[in-house]
Order: sequence, then C-alpha cells, then structure tokens
Amino acid sequence: NFRCRSAFKLLEIDDKFRVLQPGYSVVDCGAAPGAWSQVAVQRVNSAGTDQESPHGTVIGIDLLHIPPLDGAHFLSSHDVTDPATHAKLRELLPRGRAHVILSDMAPNASGFRDMDHERLITMCLSLIDLADKVLQPRGSLLCKYWDGGLTHHLQEKLESVFGSVRTIKPDASRKDSAERFFLAQLYRKPEPSQSL
Ligand code: SAM
Repeated sequence: NFRCRSAFKLLEIDDKFRVLQPGYSVVDCGAAPGAWSQVAVQRVNSAGTDQESPHGTVIGIDLLHIPPLDGAHFLSSHDVTDPATHAKLRELLPRGRAHVILSDMAPNASGFRDMDHERLITMCLSLIDLADKVLQPRGSLLCKYWDGGLTHHLQEKLESVFGSVRTIKPDASRKDSAERFFLAQLYRKPEPSQSL
C-alpha cells in the first residue's frame, strides 16, 4: 500500500536500473507524502525487514509535513536548497555520505509551462550543490524535471560531474505530460575551484 501513485514510477525505474541496493544510504528530496521513501525503505532494507541483507538508511526532506514511516528519518518543514539542510544531512547520514539522491521535487505549478519548467530546472540545479556536499564518489542522482528550453543546460551540468546521464520517461508517467527524469550515475566530485 503506497501513499501515492508516484511510487510506481520509482519502482519501474529501479527495476530497470537497480539504483537502490540493500545497505545503501538514500536522500529523498521532496518526499511528502512519502511514497518514494516507502519504495526506498524496501529496496535498501532500512527497516531491517531482511535480516540477511545489509541495512540501509533513508532520509526524506520536504517543505511539508511527512507522516512517519518505519525505516525512514524525515526532515519535515525543511528546504532542500537551504545549506542548513545540507549540514543536517551530513550529520544524519552514515559517514556523512549518501549513495543515492532521489528527487521528485516540484514547485507549485503556476500553469505557465515555461515558468514552471524554469523553476523546476533551478531546483534540479541546486541538487548538484547537494551532491557536492553529501554524494559518494560513483554515487547516483535521479531527478524529475519538466522538459523545456533549459533541459539541455541541466543535462550539461549533470554531465560535467557524472560519468553517465540518461533521460527516462517511465510508462507510469502520463504520456501527455512534460515530466521526465534524469538518471545521473558515476559521480565524480569536481576539483576545488581554481578561481581567485
Ligand atoms: N515523491 C513523493 C511521494 O512519492 O510521495 C511526492 C513528491 S511531490 C510530487 C513534490 C514535493 O516536493 C511536494 O511535497 C513539495 O512540498 C516538495 N518540494 C518542493 N520544493 C521543495 C523544496 N525546496 N524543499 C523541499 N521540498 C520541496
């Protein structure tokens, strides 16, 4: 029983690409009401349901309240783009590192397609800062975006710090929506900037 149908998109993507493994640490951005976190808890075994497999960690973040879930630690009323949230994440994650960052974040839709697209791309770009703070080398980032004129800009930014970036349109995502996902894998931490 999932809290939201969005769970089926993550299940579909994870069945195909095996992003979530038992024992992994996961940060779920824009987690309310918690369906993606439910999937993550199962896949990384963070509730310890499978005694034989390693136990992972799931931390969910949202501006809204996220109802409690066994196996997950939730930061309700937190902004993913706020550096104070990044600092808190580092304290909560084992060794301060995540194997996977998930983001199903979305702004409240204005109904103006270009404006919504641009706002969501800006939010996705902030995930690259989050990755710099908490993502393990060779880690993965899965993020939702709405397709539009700035898509290539986000893709280029992701390609500058990830070894592999693919575009995904899950069957569970409505055909007529602009919704897409980037799965960026093989993170390499950027060199400290040389700027003066
Ligand atoms: N993946 C969730 C699930 O399966 O239950 C559904 C997520 S919903 C589509 C998008 C969420 O992103 C909303 O709950 C919204 O509050 C959250 N959000 C938007 N901007 C955010 C921000 N800056 N920081 C944290 N959460 C944000």
